[in-house]
Amino acid sequence: MPGQPAGHHGAAPFPDADLMYIVDLLAPPERDTYFRIRQFLQSSVRQASIEYWNREEFPFGLLADLGKHGLGALQLDGSSTLFKGLMYVELARADVSLSALAGIHNELILGMVSELGSGEQKARWLPGLKSFRHLGAFALTEPDHGSDIAGGLETSARLEGGEWVINGAKRWIGAATIADFALVWARDVADGEIKGFIVETDRPGYTATKISNKIGLRIMQNADIVLADVRIPADNLLPGATSFSRTNELLRDSRAWVGWQGAGIQLAAFDVARAYALSRRQFGRELAGFQLVQQQLADMLGNASASLALMAQLARIQQEGKLEMVQAAMAKATVTRLARATVAMGRSLLGGNGISSDYEMGKLFGDAEILYTYEGSYEINSLIVGRAVTGKSAFH
Ligand SMILES: Cc1cc2nc3c(=O)[nH]c(=O)nc-3n(C[C@H](O)[C@H](O)[C@H](O)COP(=O)(O)OP(=O)(O)OC[C@H]3O[C@@H](n4cnc5c(N)ncnc54)[C@H](O)[C@@H]3O)c2cc1C
Repeated sequence: MPGQPAGHHGAAPFPDADLMYIVDLLAPPERDTYFRIRQFLQSSVRQASIEYWNREEFPFGLLADLGKHGLGALQLDGSSTLFKGLMYVELARADVSLSALAGIHNELILGMVSELGSGEQKARWLPGLKSFRHLGAFALTEPDHGSDIAGGLETSARLEGGEWVINGAKRWIGAATIADFALVWARDVADGEIKGFIVETDRPGYTATKISNKIGLRIMQNADIVLADVRIPADNLLPGATSFSRTNELLRDSRAWVGWQGAGIQLAAFDVARAYALSRRQFGRELAGFQLVQQQLADMLGNASASLALMAQLARIQQEGKLEMVQAAMAKATVTRLARATVAMGRSLLGGNGISSDYEMGKLFGDAEILYTYEGSYEINSLIVGRAVTGKSAFH
């Protein structure tokens, strides 16, 4: 679809930066929706997000617009896996924080409530979640346990007089200061199992403090949560989340979502780098005419295309129900490794202007670091692949 805007530099992506025609794999109705939503994200979100990112401020108006375009309901509206993935690509291409919000919302919040929740929980929360009128936060990581959370989780849940009493602390939890509830993972003192609980954020004893001064994902409101004797009704336990194994299946899918984000951020970096190379002149001519600059553009597009193609094949096996943790981990690790390299090339291609978020590339450069580390760090995802191919675990 030539002629689409490419961020604030004005030039069209060439040709959509989708050299391998991945978008053509969508069925025609989904393809039309894809172009419509991409147009909206490029024109209404991409440029607008920069100031919010600079101020570490959450764009509530933009979130409502995302809801109007159906992006709060991707998980439950019958979209194909490829369409959902390409929505995450285009969201990340416009703003990585909003793609993080939409991804966590769909994969982890809608996914968990709809698959592991009770009828009553679904009736109470799903309608508002689907339109982004309600938000949930996914609260797994703790101050002392990140990579080793499955074995190390310390937050406790005690059933007492028909109520659960939750105690503990969580760190880095996205949207925790603005969400209606947090999906809190806590260890039941009775049987030692990790279980999922809906904790409304206005319960006494729940406090969330925003983490400021992040180098990336600055629009996402990440927070430290303290849970001090928070009492919730017994039926706030997700009935399907009474051990960590079901949860793990959804965590596998959310790793795949980060792979899509990694592809999207590379398309964004390519858009900006290409436009800049064509507009900036040094030594009396455009940067785009220099061989070393073209090499960087070719490498960036090659990385982005390899990422998109890998993710498209992952979508196929996911749609067929064949996705396993090893493939999700390999894709997440590989794409985010490529994304980090791609934004670094883009950063250098813009020279000094690559340092400033005003030119978008500085924003992408910071955001790529988060993709590399969350949903299982690069190293941990690599070790999951290593374990699968050797039969030996290097991280237990
Ligand atoms: C911006 C942001 C948003 C986030 N959002 C959420 C959220 O919404 N909800 C949520 O629950 N969590 C969230 N997280 C947490 C994220 O998932 C963790 O940061 C991540 O899992 C890594 O844990 P950690 O930071 O505690 O690092 P650590 O586990 O302390 O790791 C530190 C370093 O050591 C390495 N390492 C650890 N163990 C090993 C090993 N055995 N072998 C080799 N290397 C190892 C890691 O790869 C890493 O490089 C977010 C994080 C960030 C930064």
